[in-house]
Amino acid sequence: MVEMGAKLDPWGHYAIEDYRKLLEEFGISPIDKILGLLPHKHKYFERLVIFGHRDFDVWLEALKRGEKVAVLTGFMPSGRPHLGTAMVYEELKFLQSLGAHIKIAIADAEAYIVRREDRSEVIRRGVEFVAHSIAWGINPDNAEFYYQTAMDNEYYRLIQLFSRKITAAEMEAIYGDINPGKIMAALTQSADILHLQLDKYGGYKYIVVPVGADQDPHLRLTRDIADRFEQEFGLKRPSSIYHKLLRGLDGNKMSKSRPEYAIHLDDDPEMAEKKLANALTGGRATAEEQRRLGGEPWKCSIFELYVYHLIDDEKELKERYDECVNGKILCGQCKRIAAEKLRKLLIEHQKRFKEVITSGIVEKILKKPSF
Ligand code: SF4
Repeated sequence: MVEMGAKLDPWGHYAIEDYRKLLEEFGISPIDKILGLLPHKHKYFERLVIFGHRDFDVWLEALKRGEKVAVLTGFMPSGRPHLGTAMVYEELKFLQSLGAHIKIAIADAEAYIVRREDRSEVIRRGVEFVAHSIAWGINPDNAEFYYQTAMDNEYYRLIQLFSRKITAAEMEAIYGDINPGKIMAALTQSADILHLQLDKYGGYKYIVVPVGADQDPHLRLTRDIADRFEQEFGLKRPSSIYHKLLRGLDGNKMSKSRPEYAIHLDDDPEMAEKKLANALTGGRATAEEQRRLGGEPWKCSIFELYVYHLIDDEKELKERYDECVNGKILCGQCKRIAAEKLRKLLIEHQKRFKEVITSGIVEKILKKPSF
């Protein structure tokens, strides 16, 4: 877990265990105060999977006034997309349903610089990330996708000019350990978030960035940069919403780099079921104890999958919770129910993914870098 008082590391692999402390420590606002502004509901907001925001109310008010609003997020193609990645797809799908324009960066520069990934492999994976997002339900007619290294001059000019108004000390205060690569990656992310405000890219002044809680350092830096360039370039602070990180099946952060503890969107459904069989649960040491004391779903990676992906209906989710805490169900049976739902989800998603690939749409809408 992240120690409070320590830096959030957007390139790290820890699980965050206390989101309330995160709100206090970094000044993120709780989402529950502004749920009434949402035009319609979504399970992530209702269940507080999206738990915090910065100025999302400003973005929602702009949407209500009929102003141009957009959503920007990015994917680092340093592994295969998994159910944690799909949380962002799900959020994008929801925000798109509100009428927002969606733009998605493939963070290939960052994958090369910070993760030291092979360049051609990163480019290949970028195509898969986009295809999975469309298969998950993002409408490509109202979305743009791009590789960071295939962008044009104005985007790169932002990175160069931004560097004038930041200091090494401030980067260290936000990120902890820094090096030239991390500084470049962070400024590139700021250009990702803010370039949509330039006339050339649509002049969207209201941008919201949906991210995992560990990505907040990029938002803090970008908001400071927007303030410093407001006069010169007319930039405005972006809004952001933060989701809890889906933990891996061992209870740590679900990570593309630890495939055995993550459910990937292209996992063979049977293999995925086997992974679930070994997952960490909130079950007791013996069946007798579990019947007597009940399970602890708040500690359970299976219950987390129900909340984030496998159960849409609130009543069904409550029933599953009640059965667990009242000792009416044991973990083996509960895992089998989850496995069946997961199998269905993967089979349907993979069918759509194949259709997206076969259609050739990704090649049409995603310009690859020249080298
Ligand atoms: S019964 Fe289900 S929800 Fe409860 S701890 Fe076991 S696996 Fe988790």
